[in-house]
Amino acid sequence: MRVPLLDLHGQMAPLRDEILAAVIEVIDSTQYILGPKVEQFEKNIAAYCGAGYGIGVASGTDALLAALMALGIGPGDAVLTTPYSFFATMGCILRLGARPVFADIDPVTYNIDPARMAEVLAQDALGDKRIKAIIPVHLYGQCADMDRILALAKQYGLPVVEDAAQAIGAVYPMKMGGHTAWHRAGSMGEAGCFSFFPSKNLGGIGDGGLITCNDPELAERLRIIRVHGGAPKYHHGVVGGNFRIDPIQTVVLDIKLSRLPEWHKARRRNAAAYRRLFAQTDLLANGAVSLPEAVYQAEGLTVGEECDYHIYNQFVIRVKDRDGLLRHLQSHDVGAEIYYPIPLHRQGCLAGLGYEEISFPEAERAALETLALPIFPELTYEMQCFVVEKIAEFYTR
Ligand SMILES: *Cc1c(COP(=O)(O)O)cnc(C)c1O
Repeated sequence: MRVPLLDLHGQMAPLRDEILAAVIEVIDSTQYILGPKVEQFEKNIAAYCGAGYGIGVASGTDALLAALMALGIGPGDAVLTTPYSFFATMGCILRLGARPVFADIDPVTYNIDPARMAEVLAQDALGDKRIKAIIPVHLYGQCADMDRILALAKQYGLPVVEDAAQAIGAVYPMKMGGHTAWHRAGSMGEAGCFSFFPSKNLGGIGDGGLITCNDPELAERLRIIRVHGGAPKYHHGVVGGNFRIDPIQTVVLDIKLSRLPEWHKARRRNAAAYRRLFAQTDLLANGAVSLPEAVYQAEGLTVGEECDYHIYNQFVIRVKDRDGLLRHLQSHDVGAEIYYPIPLHRQGCLAGLGYEEISFPEAERAALETLALPIFPELTYEMQCFVVEKIAEFYTR
């Protein structure tokens, strides 16, 4: 049996005719840049995320870049973020001439650890106060600990840009004044950044991204930055870029958005099936494998199991002899992948900038011990049984 890490055929097949019709409509309209289809999509995503505004851009990377530009991040500034994410989180900081400052991750969620952030921020406040923004990443589809992150942001007067590229629709139970309010990823900070790269839970037929925000002035600034900073056209009070999303992507994404809740549910069902299958082995008890935790589930109160606390963009396990297991799975045609093998502070582009001496032990350990298993919505139970069987086989040889 072959089990791919991701197979998009299953989700495209039932939507193909609807998508083709929508794409043909765009082609025939000759409205190829921005316009009503993009605006409709922006409204739909903002509503889904519970944010005031949505600004469609060309990729998740451009979403991060434009958000940092709109907040005025530039040379000499520092941005506090996680050392364990996709490169774009840090790349955007560096492209603006700013410097990433890291706080280590929580070993259970792999998200930035607020306790470590507090130490970094306190030190910065005593020194040159260079940190001008915070980028938490909602890694693998589960929100970072936003209550504590927003409290720190408030204490130090810093804007928060949520990298929600892997977490569209993920729910965070925010505690405010003694009661809990449910917020979706991207609606809690100054700006939320989304990616529609095909492997994300909501993926286009190419690149795409979007920024959410609640401040109308920031939304306006982002719309201007998206078109080279021209407002009105050909009058450039600020420098922007060409960060536009294509209507041909937004019509596809709009169709897919209507299916997103059921796809989230299918990923959650697959995660639950893995939990049952692993529990039938001794891999959990003997410590060979530990499974990802939906840490806000316990706070579920009324919403419980049926809530998207974790949207499982990836199902990442921590294992003994990770590289051996990966080779074993590959040799049996089981797709698995390391997200991410090199923490950001160890990337070659930072060589000589003083990051060599710094260590973030949890990020480094995650890079050595974790592995993502197939979790896409159309994955079958038989495939999951095969995956767990092959993993058990590896540890009982
Ligand atoms: C996918 C991703 C991005 C970048 O999105 P693109 O659309 O590929 O540019 C940024 N951050 C994280 C955490 C991601 O997973």
